[in-house]
Amino acid sequence: MKLPYAEPYRIKMVESIKKSTVAQRKKWIKEANYNLFNLKSDQVYIDLLTDSGTGAMSDKQWAEVMLGDESYAGSRSFEKLKNAVVDITGYKYFIPTHQGRAAENVLFSTLVKEGDIIPGNSHFDTTKGHIEFRKGKAVDCTIDAAFDTDLYHPFKGNIDLKKLEKVFTENPIEKIPFIVITVTCNTAGGQPVSMENIKAVSALCKQYKVAIYFDAARYAENCYFIKEREDAYKNKTIKEIAYEMFSYGDGMTMSSKKDGLVNMGGIIALKDKKVYRNATTFAIMYEGFITYGGMSGRDMGALAVGLYEALEYDYLASRVTQVQYLGEKLDEFGVPVQKPIGGHAVYLDANKFVPTIPKEEYRAQALAVELYIIAGIRGVEIGTILADRDPETRENRYPELELVRLAIPRRTYTHNHMEYIASALKTIYDSRAEAKNGYTIVWEAPIMRHFTVKLEKI
Ligand SMILES: *Cc1c(COP(=O)(O)O)cnc(C)c1O
Repeated sequence: MKLPYAEPYRIKMVESIKKSTVAQRKKWIKEANYNLFNLKSDQVYIDLLTDSGTGAMSDKQWAEVMLGDESYAGSRSFEKLKNAVVDITGYKYFIPTHQGRAAENVLFSTLVKEGDIIPGNSHFDTTKGHIEFRKGKAVDCTIDAAFDTDLYHPFKGNIDLKKLEKVFTENPIEKIPFIVITVTCNTAGGQPVSMENIKAVSALCKQYKVAIYFDAARYAENCYFIKEREDAYKNKTIKEIAYEMFSYGDGMTMSSKKDGLVNMGGIIALKDKKVYRNATTFAIMYEGFITYGGMSGRDMGALAVGLYEALEYDYLASRVTQVQYLGEKLDEFGVPVQKPIGGHAVYLDANKFVPTIPKEEYRAQALAVELYIIAGIRGVEIGTILADRDPETRENRYPELELVRLAIPRRTYTHNHMEYIASALKTIYDSRAEAKNGYTIVWEAPIMRHFTVKLEKI
């Protein structure tokens, strides 16, 4: 008999979360102008807004918090973190930053010039933002399979070598300082990149003398998928896989709020001394001295421990299995979800879920609001509201996919919570024919409207 999956940890400390009634939530979401970002966390029962910085630290990490060395320069906590980063990545040079986008800010200040082209696999929005802010261009070279939600492909985060080579041959090569490989590919739904693909991309980049930097926010989850789905790696440890993966690149930036298993922090790790030297100037200007970079000593210590815990096979198996479990349960109920299920989130397909609500009335947002009202669960719309208006015509841009993302925080919710979420969605799905009306926008910001938009029920 195959035993069922169970968490490889037990609970030592609990944090209460507040239950509420449908009537209370109807009132609260109206007061929040039907924008889930405006809710207070106490008004939410299960919070799936993001998996960024929302995970639980372990007893060993909390113990390290007490050992934090808050010296301005050369602290023991910095040494611990540096040793962990060098050991895991094989890169010699390390700069701490306060979060992932800060790492991008420092590294891209060093490497990106106006007119540069930075190819990659569906760059994350802050990555793209930091490239475009410097008047560079991010070119998406993800394989076409990534954009077909019903198609199974084990590595939908892969880079299309032909698309990449086309960018190399059609542009002056000195305009392409590096490419970014995002592992796992967040924008494509937490989809992994295979080692075979990384190797092939590395060979191509060597041929054209273009550097490779990893956006490594969820690198451990990516390595888990490589172990599970790529035969050549099934007997390797996650740490060995990570070390090999990083060996094909020149450096990495990382949001430690994901696979660092901490609530705040960022990392830059580099092979090249010259790049490191140049980056330190920006690090000091933007983040702080190079042995703390916006982090307190205790946080660096906790991150040093978290980096190793995130590489433990049992942890990763439980993490990814929990997300898959929720996705498969929903699939069983007939609830339309994006496939295959990624590493950190389940995406509801609102076009298939509530086609009865006109797309002009923000159907994914309507579904997210309904999930909150019925069950106190907060997800996030990845659809028309997020896609914003065309900068020239000011018309709404209707993306191909209208999604509601349910991101699962690490080590935070139990199996019963997954059951609760699945049941809530089944209830909504069973009465989907009654869903007719969506929402209209009554106020919006000129840019990044999704955070502050005000809506009214139609
Ligand atoms: C979260 C994230 C970032 C940005 O990190 P922050 O810590 O939120 O600043 C960059 N890239 C990817 C892939 C991410 O998921």
